[in-house]
Amino acid sequence: MYSATTDKALTCVDCNQEFSFTVSEQQFYADRQFSEPRRCPACRAIRKASRGDSGNSNYAGGDYGTSRGYDRGPREMFSATCASCGREAQVPFRPSGAKPVYCSDCFSTQRRSY
Ligand SMILES: [Zn+2]
Ligand SMILES: [Zn+2]
Repeated sequence: MYSATTDKALTCVDCNQEFSFTVSEQQFYADRQFSEPRRCPACRAIRKASRGDSGNSNYAGGDYGTSRGYDRGPREMFSATCASCGREAQVPFRPSGAKPVYCSDCFSTQRRSY
């Protein structure tokens, strides 16, 4: 018969923090033939709270960051056709059609020849 006498230190698989699996918890788990918890109480609570709203157990941030004032990326790139070599070029501005657009290769060649 299983009888716990001391708290056990377990390591949480989620946050890697040690947490104590207390004697009463050990008894509780043993009575129900549960295996030892793999997560600390905090992580278990998080999992419980997030359970059901996504099938993915990896909490990847979800709605985090939607309120950040970052609706433009670092730099928005547009694709255009290079006027020199005809390849696709990525340019940091919207091509107007009035000016020729060069790919980065041709652009640097042009610059150099000036
Ligand atoms: Zn944890
Ligand atoms: Zn080019």
